[in-house]
Amino acid sequence: MDRLAIVVPCYNEKEVIKISSEALRQVLADLVAKGKIAEDSYVLFVDDGSKDNTWELIRAEYEKYPQIKGLKLAGNVGHQFALTAGLLTAKDYSDVTVSIDADLQDDTAVIEEMIDKFHEGCEIVYGVRNDRSSDSFFKRTTAQGFYKVMAAMGVKTVYNHADFRLMSKKALVEFAKYKESNLFLRGLVPLIGFQTGQVFYERKERVAGESKYPLKKMLALAFNGISSFSVKPIDFIATIGGVITFLSIIAAIYAFISYFTGNVTEGWTSLILSIWFLGGVQLLSVGLIGKYIGKIYLEVKQRPRYHIETFLNER
Ligand code: UDP
Ligand code: MG
Repeated sequence: MDRLAIVVPCYNEKEVIKISSEALRQVLADLVAKGKIAEDSYVLFVDDGSKDNTWELIRAEYEKYPQIKGLKLAGNVGHQFALTAGLLTAKDYSDVTVSIDADLQDDTAVIEEMIDKFHEGCEIVYGVRNDRSSDSFFKRTTAQGFYKVMAAMGVKTVYNHADFRLMSKKALVEFAKYKESNLFLRGLVPLIGFQTGQVFYERKERVAGESKYPLKKMLALAFNGISSFSVKPIDFIATIGGVITFLSIIAAIYAFISYFTGNVTEGWTSLILSIWFLGGVQLLSVGLIGKYIGKIYLEVKQRPRYHIETFLNER
């Protein structure tokens, strides 16, 4: 029988740990009763350096229930790395994992379908939301825009899939070979290959607490996703550069003709505009290229991506 680990990254989630633990233990109990997973399956809560008492709550759950394990990271490393820490830890203590957010926005009921797909031979199963009505108009539009931009930039992602997914041990062993510091799991996992499947669900509201993804973090994730997987922005800048150069040649010819025909008293406006415009384009280009250099800088350092402080794994 396959041992399932449900991996749950948590950052300042004191309002939801108990609810989450309860719901996920119920999922495990159901699956065990149906003979679909091993009895020693468990939920692994990863505390991503929370500032509230999330860790104490995880520890309390661990002491109370044999199906709970806890992993405490030494500091806040962000959702993607916290999830990676959990998955790579769980890999050595399970046959299959499901990652899910602590706030239970993703439907725990489809975990069973994921396990069924796994038993049918899928190594990766994506949870895909079939509607976004629970999101605010703003989140919905930005998120959809995000998937469109990603696709236009040539990054392969699964549409409307966040980080709710099943990964088998086999898939995780391959995932562990990706050592990059600029991590964007949704872009990376599809690169692994294997037989994959999808299950569909409706995304709910957070059970409690607040989103830990403010606009700033969302934009950072989007940019990180694009620039980690695509050099299209550089191509784009190069194209703009080419077009502007071409236009300025035409403008220069026009200026010369104007000079020889004697209409040269004006021109301050066009001059100052072009200085500003080109200055802006240049700054943008240099900045963008700088971003990539920054990424190279981060990668060559090969720093560890997270540090584990405690692993509650006595049972
Ligand atoms: N999270 C994390 N580290 C962070 C930020 C968030 O581990 O620095 C976790 C958080 O506890 C939650 C998941 O990532 O389990 C998704 O965050 P959230 O639900 O706040 O994002 P949203 O659903 O609003 O996009
Ligand atoms: Mg959420």
